[in-house]
Amino acid sequence: MAHEVVLIPGDGIGPEISRAMQRVVEATGVSIAWNVQDAGAAVMETEGTPLPERVLDAIVEARVAIKGPVTTPVGSGFRSINVALRKHFDLFSCVRPCLSQPGDGSRYTDIDLVIFRENTEDLYAGIEFSPNDSEVQTIVDAIVRSGQTPPRPGSALSIKPISEVGSRRIVEAAFAYAECAGRRKVTAVHKANIMKETDGLFLRVAREVAASHPTVAFEDRIVDAACMGLVQDPWSFDVLVMPNLYGDIISDLGAGLIGGLGMAPGANMGQTVALFEATHGSAPDIAGKDRANPTALILSAAMMLDHLGEHAAGSKIREAVRTVLHEGACVTADVRHTQTGSSAGAVGTQAYADAL
Ligand code: NAD
Repeated sequence: MAHEVVLIPGDGIGPEISRAMQRVVEATGVSIAWNVQDAGAAVMETEGTPLPERVLDAIVEARVAIKGPVTTPVGSGFRSINVALRKHFDLFSCVRPCLSQPGDGSRYTDIDLVIFRENTEDLYAGIEFSPNDSEVQTIVDAIVRSGQTPPRPGSALSIKPISEVGSRRIVEAAFAYAECAGRRKVTAVHKANIMKETDGLFLRVAREVAASHPTVAFEDRIVDAACMGLVQDPWSFDVLVMPNLYGDIISDLGAGLIGGLGMAPGANMGQTVALFEATHGSAPDIAGKDRANPTALILSAAMMLDHLGEHAAGSKIREAVRTVLHEGACVTADVRHTQTGSSAGAVGTQAYADAL
C-alpha cells in the first residue's frame, strides 16, 4: 500500500528541489501517494492566508509531510509559516544531522554531528511588541517593580519563553537518540551566564536529564564558545542540544562544515506529526535557474523514509548521494564552487537528480 505523504513544495527554489526529491524517492521503488499542498506568499494572494486550513487538515490526516522552503517577508508582512507549522503541530524536536560526504567540497572531512534544536519556544516564539503597543508600558512597569533596569524609552520588546516541559522533552529526545544510535556525548549549548532565568532553566533541566542517562557523556558549552569550538575542532562534538534561536544559527554553522546549506537535511518531530525539511531557505538569488542543490531535501526524504519504516529505500538514497558526490562528475554549482573556486562544469538540479 502507498504511504500517504503531504508535500508542500514551497517557493523560491522549493518547487525545483521538490521535483528532484520526488523523482529520487520514486526511483527507490517505494510507493508514495503525494498529496501536494501549496502554501506561502502566492497562496496568500489567492486565499488570503499563507497557510490555509486545507494544508493543516491534510497533515493531520497523513501525519507525515515534507516541505520545500517558504519565504518569510523581513520586517512587516505575514509571520513565518515554518514557525506556524512547528507550533500548530507541536513539532518540538528539530533534528539536523551534519554528516560529511566525500566530495562535498567542504574544508572539513569526517564531520558527524547531530543537532537537536528546541522548536517551539525561545525568542523564536515571535512574542513581540512594537514601541507603540500599549502593553509595552505594562511590561516596563513590571520590570521596574522587579528592581531590574527598564529598557530605553521607545524600545521594541521580544519575550523569550523557556519552559521546564519544553526543555526537558528536547533534552530527553537528544539523549534517547544518543543512546539508541550509540553516540558518545551530548553537549547542551546555552548562554546561562547572562540569561540566568531562561537559559539557566534550560541548563538546569539538561543537567537533570543527563544524570538519568549515565551511559552517555554530558557537557555544556556557552553558545559563543561552542561556535568557536565548532569551527576549530568540530570532531570534539557529537550530539548537541539547544534552545531554538541558537539551534537556528548553529544549524547553518553545521551546514557550513559539510559543504553548505544545500547539503543539510532535517526533521521536525512531534508526538503525532513528522515534518521533514532542509535547513536552508528559499534561496531567492538562484530560484528558477535549475542551480539549486536538492541534496538537503533529498536527504530529508531519506530521513522520512526511515520514519515510514522504509529503511532500505532511505539507505539507497544515502548511498546514491555518497556515490555521485564521490565520483564528482555530476555535482551542482555550489558544490563545484566550494571544490574548485569556480562553478564551471557543474550540472543543474534535475541532471543531478538523474545521476542519483
Ligand atoms: P537561504 O538559506 O535561502 O540562502 C542562503 C544562501 O545559501 C544563498 O546564497 C542561497 O543561494 C544558498 N542556498 C540555500 N539553499 C541552497 C541550495 N539548496 N542549493 C544551493 N545554494 C543554496 O537563506 P536566506 O537568503 O537568508 O533566506 C531566504 C528566505 O528563506 C527568507 O525569506 C527566509 O525567511 C526563508 N527561510 C525559510 C526556511 C524554511 O522554509 N524552512 C528556512 C530558512 C529561511
